[in-house]
Amino acid sequence: MTAKIIDGKAFAADVRGRVAAHVSKLKSEHNIIPGLAVVLVGEDPASQVYVRSKGKMTTEVGMHSYEHKLDAETDEATLLALIDNLNNDPQVHGILVQLPLPNHLNEDLVINSIDPAKDVDGFHISNVGLLATGQKSMVPCTPLGCLMMLRQHHGSLSGLNAVVVGRSNIVGKPMAQLLLGESCTVTIAHSRTKDIEALCRRADILVAAVGRPEMINADWIKPGATVVDVGINRIDAPEKGDGKTRLVGDVDFSSAVEVAGAITPVPGGVGPMTIACLLANTLTACCRSNGVAETSDLTV
Ligand code: NAP
Repeated sequence: MTAKIIDGKAFAADVRGRVAAHVSKLKSEHNIIPGLAVVLVGEDPASQVYVRSKGKMTTEVGMHSYEHKLDAETDEATLLALIDNLNNDPQVHGILVQLPLPNHLNEDLVINSIDPAKDVDGFHISNVGLLATGQKSMVPCTPLGCLMMLRQHHGSLSGLNAVVVGRSNIVGKPMAQLLLGESCTVTIAHSRTKDIEALCRRADILVAAVGRPEMINADWIKPGATVVDVGINRIDAPEKGDGKTRLVGDVDFSSAVEVAGAITPVPGGVGPMTIACLLANTLTACCRSNGVAETSDLTV
């Protein structure tokens, strides 16, 4: 059996297209333009790349993009004052503070200072609680993207066995909550889980969010299962030449594709969906704050 490849790149382009259409309608019918503010502290090269591409895609869908770049030594009071300004700025509907922050800044304090209604990353403790209790919330972008792809592939997920490998606050835990919300039977595995291979082999849906290159191979996968690979790992690729690298997921794609029923590739799977869902969340936040009907297919 060869798995169907779930094309996250194409799906993300479709999501961005739907967001753009809705943004244009908001503008023509209500004279509202959604705005996303991204705050970057320091010069982490990967974060700079993410912030640049977030800004580009934000303007491409017709939203306003506001970038705030602060130097690495910025103190907590200055950062909190900026967030307070953004919380009170009616042009800003979404606020994202790029993580990780430099060590001297308290990440929890900073995230929890964002107005929960503008917390498009869905990391504020209020949004975590709302999601856990099945109420309307801002949903973290990466798990939201995974859920959209799973819904499109399966239709109903009700009654399926789901195993999420990884229990981080940004991926594993919210992913498990979302799958529970879809009436899956959910197990969360992590570094202390016993006999993890056998556990994963029982999953109809297997989500890998570990950060270990190609850890999960065909032996871990139930024939026909849907595998969602969140991992992004850069490894050496001597076959491409000296010093070259390539991106791989947490799943050994070449063996998994022979057993799974469907699988997301890396790159081109979950990754592109994350920014698309950030735009979808900004649109959702804008609709909610203006009392305009939100698009149900762009959120949960
Ligand atoms: P994280 O915070 O480091 O969490 C990793 C999780 O994996 C932890 O819960 C850890 O368990 C578990 N784990 C580590 N080694 C394990 C093992 N041998 N067996 C079972 N579980 C193990 O990572 P994260 O932020 O969730 O990210 C996970 C991966 O997703 C990374 O590759 C990251 O780059 C990628 N990512 C991708 C996107 C995207 O847009 N596609 C977004 C976010 C993250 P313990 O809790 O027991 O330590």
